[in-house]
Amino acid sequence: MTRRKKLLRALGVVVALAAALVAVLIVRAGDRRTPPRPLDVPAPVAEFEVDMDYALRALSDFIRIDTSTPPGVPRDPSPPAALTHLLDRYVVPMGLPYEVIEDRMLVVTVAGEDPGLAPLVLLSHYDVVPVAEDEVDDWTHPPFGGVVADGYLWGRGAMDNKGSTICQLEAIRALRGLGRRPRREVRLVIVPDEEIGGVEGSGAIVSRHREVLGDPFLVLDEGSALLTHVFPGLLLAGVAVGEKRFVTLELSVTGVPGHSSMPRRDAAPNVLSRALGRLADYQGPIRVLPTTEAFLDRVADHLPLARRIPLKNRWLFEGAIVNQLASRPGPNATIRDTLAITIFDGGVKDNVIPAEVKATVNMRLLPGSDLDEVLRRIEGVIAEPRVQIEVVTDWGDTPVQPTTGERWDRFESALVTIFPDAVVVPLVTPGTTDARYFAQADIPTFRFLPFTVDDDELSRVHGIDERISVDNVRQGVRAYAMMMSIL
Ligand SMILES: [Zn+2]
Repeated sequence: MTRRKKLLRALGVVVALAAALVAVLIVRAGDRRTPPRPLDVPAPVAEFEVDMDYALRALSDFIRIDTSTPPGVPRDPSPPAALTHLLDRYVVPMGLPYEVIEDRMLVVTVAGEDPGLAPLVLLSHYDVVPVAEDEVDDWTHPPFGGVVADGYLWGRGAMDNKGSTICQLEAIRALRGLGRRPRREVRLVIVPDEEIGGVEGSGAIVSRHREVLGDPFLVLDEGSALLTHVFPGLLLAGVAVGEKRFVTLELSVTGVPGHSSMPRRDAAPNVLSRALGRLADYQGPIRVLPTTEAFLDRVADHLPLARRIPLKNRWLFEGAIVNQLASRPGPNATIRDTLAITIFDGGVKDNVIPAEVKATVNMRLLPGSDLDEVLRRIEGVIAEPRVQIEVVTDWGDTPVQPTTGERWDRFESALVTIFPDAVVVPLVTPGTTDARYFAQADIPTFRFLPFTVDDDELSRVHGIDERISVDNVRQGVRAYAMMMSIL
């Protein structure tokens, strides 16, 4: 064979291999999941008019009741007023059975059409995070004013989480107006204290009053929503089926105090700063959860071919995809355990080197991460035996709910029915929610609010100018009414 022939043959092999690879990539990219079939919505529920005047006034008045729970204040300052408002405006006029538990939690029951079906529990919290005094003036409308303007209802708690309580109650009121019952029994569980950890709210429900839940088909809490910003061009109905584990460490160093005019290299602040510097630069190993795999698969199904090919061929493109996820704080938090230095503590005078300094490090571990292993790794990064590491808070690992089986399928079908334009995706939220109390007690729990939000709207939650759009209130009422009718 001539040299030229050999070369041509080799080239032929390369071209054939490349063509085969492209064929494999495209075939795999074409492997799309059939979306679930929508459920039948009873005609009146599919197209009723929401009584927006009533709903907006009820939400506005609810926001005007200041239910702030500052850290360290264990009892909500005005639980009876908040609960009385809900009872007066909705529960009592409808004659619904209810129970007030320990003077500060409310459980409302709505009978279902089919008594044989396990109840749907809708969880919400009525406490809100406080508004710092020096931030009040930065608000466009007073944080506890409940003002409706420019297509929004403004105020602390509008989105987190009073909006959903009102939408749920308004949905029940709407169904009654239509002469309809929910498909299965619905129980609203309305709790305080979520913003301070929930021990005496949802924690108390699970540990001391579990009977009020019945044996639920599902507990639905906040923690995710319809998201427009995660994949531009795609509306994602993100159902959080898990959450990360909240762990707080206290790092401390004790040394010899001294005068700042004659500093020592081994002074306590120096030792701790060097350790914190190493921690700040540290990134834990990457772990892609099965939920994240499912998330990527389902998103890929709805992307154009060019973007679908890498996502559907992760065996080949995993490195590039992971790099991309790791490049932004949000996605990065879904593929690894993270840590953040949040509090510095030490020193009293500018010319005195303190004997002891401390720092607080808040960690968020992926479901299933081993805390001891993480601590060993952190000790290795710090590499300084003088730094004492103490675990001061640990909310424990929360099991991830399966995204197969009857419960997920039914919920997904319901969301496909209610939001035909959305792609339903499972995810694990880096935040923490009250849902963990239920999930940790093996009660099936999803996190989803039927509101459409973007980055900007989310950044207002716990921040300045929290608000909910009037459209989201309407959408929320309709969504809950449909959900109750078909789930
Ligand atoms: Zn909340």
